[in-house]
Amino acid sequence: MGFSSALQSRAAHEALIVRQDAELRLMETMKRSIQLKAKCDKEYAISLAAVAQQGLKIDRADDMQGSLITKSWRSYMDELDQQAKQFKLNAEQLEVICDKLAHLSQDKRKARKSYQEEHSKIAARLNHLTDEVVRKKSEYQKHLEGYKTLRTRFEEHYIKAPGRSGRKLDDVRDKYQKACRKLHLTHNEYVLSITEAIEVEKDFRTVLLPGLLEHQQSVQESFILLWRNILLEAAQHGDLTADKYKEIQKRIDTVIGGINPTEEYAEFTEKHKTSPTTPLQFQFDESLIEDIPGKLTASTLTVDNLTVDWLRTRLTELELAVKECQERQLKVIEHVNGGSPVANGSVISNGSMASNGIQSNKDSQNRQSKDLNALRCQEKQKQKLVDMIKFSLNEVGCEELPSGCDDHLSLEHNFIDHGFNNEQQISLSTNRPLYEEEWFHGVLPREEVVRLLNIDGDFLVRETIRNEESQIVLSVCWNGHKHFIVQTTGDGHFRFEGPPFPSIQELIMHQFHSELPVTVKSGAILRRPVCRECWELSNDDVALLEKIGRGNFGDVYKAKLKSTKQDVAVKTCRMTLPDEQKRKFLQEGRILKQYDHPNIVKLIGICVQKQPIMIVMELVPGGSLLNYLRKNSNGLSTRQQMGMCRDAAAGMRYLESKNCIHRDLAARNCLVDFEHTVKISDFGMSREEEEYIVSDGMKQIPVKWTAPEALNFGKYTSLCDVWSYGILMWEIFSKGDTPYSGMSNSRARERIDTGYRMPTPENTPPEMYRLMLKCWAADVESRPHFDEIYNVVDALILRLENSH
Ligand code: ADP
Repeated sequence: MGFSSALQSRAAHEALIVRQDAELRLMETMKRSIQLKAKCDKEYAISLAAVAQQGLKIDRADDMQGSLITKSWRSYMDELDQQAKQFKLNAEQLEVICDKLAHLSQDKRKARKSYQEEHSKIAARLNHLTDEVVRKKSEYQKHLEGYKTLRTRFEEHYIKAPGRSGRKLDDVRDKYQKACRKLHLTHNEYVLSITEAIEVEKDFRTVLLPGLLEHQQSVQESFILLWRNILLEAAQHGDLTADKYKEIQKRIDTVIGGINPTEEYAEFTEKHKTSPTTPLQFQFDESLIEDIPGKLTASTLTVDNLTVDWLRTRLTELELAVKECQERQLKVIEHVNGGSPVANGSVISNGSMASNGIQSNKDSQNRQSKDLNALRCQEKQKQKLVDMIKFSLNEVGCEELPSGCDDHLSLEHNFIDHGFNNEQQISLSTNRPLYEEEWFHGVLPREEVVRLLNIDGDFLVRETIRNEESQIVLSVCWNGHKHFIVQTTGDGHFRFEGPPFPSIQELIMHQFHSELPVTVKSGAILRRPVCRECWELSNDDVALLEKIGRGNFGDVYKAKLKSTKQDVAVKTCRMTLPDEQKRKFLQEGRILKQYDHPNIVKLIGICVQKQPIMIVMELVPGGSLLNYLRKNSNGLSTRQQMGMCRDAAAGMRYLESKNCIHRDLAARNCLVDFEHTVKISDFGMSREEEEYIVSDGMKQIPVKWTAPEALNFGKYTSLCDVWSYGILMWEIFSKGDTPYSGMSNSRARERIDTGYRMPTPENTPPEMYRLMLKCWAADVESRPHFDEIYNVVDALILRLENSH
């Protein structure tokens, strides 16, 4: 149903006008709103661009080089800037739309006006005719009245005087005729006007008004179409799901999606790659105690009557702390194993667990394992202190304490003065000096002492040097190992808890024969003296001849064993070295003692009866391999060089089979005899373990000989020795050159970490260089073991010999 048939009434016409007015007002509202939106969008675009600008100001951008997070962020900010631009463009478009809307409103206003005018025009004619008909009718009625009156008068005159003439009658007749004529004319006009009105009305209703309405409908509808398009345009410019925004969003998503945690730090790590930091060295400043005579020793706890109680309290505290650490570890482990409410999921303590279960589960596992590590470290640290205190307390003995007071000092000095070095006083009261007693073991290291005392009642006497003072200690196996310091009385006698004796030997014999406990508290009884072993030589068993070298701890001499006249080499340990160093010096003897192989330098014995302590070993007449190579560089054949490599490999194969890690294999630490036989020597750093982790700093590391994993993580295995063996081969073939010459230790280390390996020395058989490279494999497990090395070198030598 269209306007033309439905809206013909006056009321409908008025409603149509009202409607158009409403539409015009709506258009105004729209225009204002779109204008406002454009303004908003423009302001937003400006703010957004500022945000993007701000976001791109990345502080210390250089430090973030290669970061995918940074890259994504930059792209994200760039895209925001794009978005801002897009918003600005849209805002400008909206302003254009406002203009269009203004034009539309103007046109619409015109159309409304012309409709109204047209409507009035066609309605005016009908109205006029309607009025005309009414007017004609009233004229008609008026004339009809006049006619009726005049006709009545004429009839009266005529009836009264029929057939008569007269002026009066004529006058009446005349008037009657005029009135009749008037009436007929009016009648006709009335008829005509009605007919016209009927026609006009019919046209108005069926032609003109429907035509106008139809036209108006189409005009209004065409406005609606324009209006709709304008709205559509406005909406489209605000459409955040439009492709252009979608594309921006897609790009943002893609670049953020490209963030990969495992790649994030790749460039950074590459750029800042450094070798692990060298451990911080904490060292006792020995100058502090330079002027203090006697009592205090660097890095050693002082145990005396002044400190023992404090130490014991501290020990208890620390032991408690260790226990607490262990208990806490147990709790964490229980947690991890699901004993805890969090782990079995019945209680979720925070939102993050609920919202991202997998991630936070992993987080919590990581956290727990970190907690565990921290607790383990704490336990280890505290345990170390416990061990140290225990060791010191044990060393002094369960009961006997040296005095920490000065008034005792004189007494102790007295002991030293008249003690070990003053054999005369001892011999005054006994038949032979203490150090000749079979059960006196000199400064035998504690580890050895403990090894020798196996059954309750086993005992020996030894010397310990504490605070540069010599003390005589009775060590007894009794519910573990107990050590008692022999106390000196003011008059130069010796005692434990019982009576004093003029000599240590008498004191010991008294304890042995009386079977009385050394101290009441310990209950330790002496049952069986443990005598020196054959390798525990007396200093007087060797005669030093000439100095042949200089080692870390002291000079090395050529010497003669008095008993067999055998030539030997004797390493001495400087008397002034601290106790700890002396222990280290003897470590070499302790390790060598167990080995017997033609390519390992042989131990003959150690002299610990008195100072200087010495290690006696077979004399290897060619001296150090390094010197030998340098001195004989012209006369060395490839065969001889390969033979040296084979010897070293044989020695190392033997050591590997004994789980001994040498840790300092190098030409300077090999010896060579007249037959060019190479023997591995210098076991000062060796350890008898399959894997040895250095925890106490790495002060004197032969960096250029040491495998990267040992340098970086302190982890030593025989495969580290294999690396060093590769360097040794290189030294042999370069005839004593310095490896990585021209490079500092740290430079060499850096270069090795980045894959550098030394080039082959001149005239090295390619197979031997290949072997070197294998020894220097960064991947520890892909290095050959010494067994394989030996076989390869041996086979090459055979091939070489057969080809000649
Ligand atoms: P340290 O281990 O204290 O550094 P070394 O074992 O390196 O001492 O010995 C120092 C030097 O003494 C060697 O370079 C070598 O010349 C000589 N030397 C050591 N032991 C012997 C030995 N058994 N036979 C011959 N010379 C030796």
